[in-house]
Amino acid sequence: MNQAVSIPNKEDIESKNFPHFNELSKLEHEQLIFCSRPDAGLKAIIAIHDTTLGPALGGTRMWNYASESEAVRDVLRLSRGMTYKAAISGLNLGGGKAVIIGDSRTDKSEALFRAFGRYIDGLGGRYITAEDVGMTEQDMEWIFSETKYVTGIPKALGGSGNPSPVTAYGVYMGMKAAAKKAYGSDSLEGLRIGIQGAGSVASNLASYLQKEGAVLFVSDIFEEKANRVSKNTGATVVEPNDIYTLDLHIFSPCALGGVVNDDTVGQLQCDIIAGGANNILDDEQRHGKLLKEQGIYYAPDYVINAGGIINISSELEGYNEEMALNKTSRIYDTTIKIFEYAEKHDIPTYRASNILAEQRIESVAKLGTVYSSKSHFSGRLGELYMKDRT
Ligand code: NAD
Repeated sequence: MNQAVSIPNKEDIESKNFPHFNELSKLEHEQLIFCSRPDAGLKAIIAIHDTTLGPALGGTRMWNYASESEAVRDVLRLSRGMTYKAAISGLNLGGGKAVIIGDSRTDKSEALFRAFGRYIDGLGGRYITAEDVGMTEQDMEWIFSETKYVTGIPKALGGSGNPSPVTAYGVYMGMKAAAKKAYGSDSLEGLRIGIQGAGSVASNLASYLQKEGAVLFVSDIFEEKANRVSKNTGATVVEPNDIYTLDLHIFSPCALGGVVNDDTVGQLQCDIIAGGANNILDDEQRHGKLLKEQGIYYAPDYVINAGGIINISSELEGYNEEMALNKTSRIYDTTIKIFEYAEKHDIPTYRASNILAEQRIESVAKLGTVYSSKSHFSGRLGELYMKDRT
């Protein structure tokens, strides 16, 4: 009897037999490191996406992932985002990120973070860590006792502390730039602005907006948090699901990612989306295109929430708050440039910012062919600066 035999093609074989290498080449990652230290309870993964511009800087996320593959997917996606964020922000940094698999409420210990710090140290500066979801300044202190390749450490230890106020300032600058593009003026006075989330970034952002005379609305899944922002800024508290359908000038997602999705995109009644959350668009291509078709100005998230990385990266040069804020204010010009590029080429703004980030990486990469004194070292500014750190 003749049976149909299906011959797997090269791609199928690679994705089945080499799943990790396949994933790495798909998004163009350089390296994936698994760190295991069972006696300290450590299961961590570090992903280095691209170091063309400098050492890979990005936070560590501690999360109770349901599976190894979920953790790998997250760290690959997040590290790639950091490459674009650093590039568009004009930083001499590459993109990296780490995840620690565990419950941040119950699984933390000094041994775990110190073990993790030693793995980071072993990378010799190719990856520099910082805080992300599930991490505290105390955890960073433990990491710092094993490696100098860590930022976002407490001010008392010479670090820059919590980056949220600077992130909020950058979001505010990006929002003003978007208003300039949409209305011809960057004043936010009298504009109706809905903030989703009432956490660290949102509460700092609300203060800036209140000072400028915006009419604020705020929502949080924890009512007391929304009430606190309301008390400090006069914002009207709304139910979490109502924020999508409010008649607004600006919608500012400052909670979780994926909030512009198939369910919400058609409900939005705003002219501008400008928020601090990462990965606001559930599907970058599809929802970015839909926003453009609906005539909504979308200020790309990783562009306007870059104040945090700008702040922590300035630790590498010796932290100076004024300088960090000054650099962060340039988010205004970057956002305008992205809107103009998108308009000129008739493309969605997320696409414009990806292109501009890639152009910077490519143009700097070419400079490597010119011999300079830095070639004696690795040519990575971060490592040179960090030499002096103890
Ligand atoms: P946070 O934990 O302080 O605040 C998040 C808030 O969102 C919490 O109060 C939470 O209760 C609320 N929330 C969660 N789901 C919600 C929902 N469906 N509706 C309304 N509220 C909801 O976090 P944060 O540091 O303020 O960060 C906020 C966002 O900004 C995150 O996406 C983060 O990745 C991003 N971000 C933060 C920084 C920073 O410097 N902190 C930098 C860049 C990007």
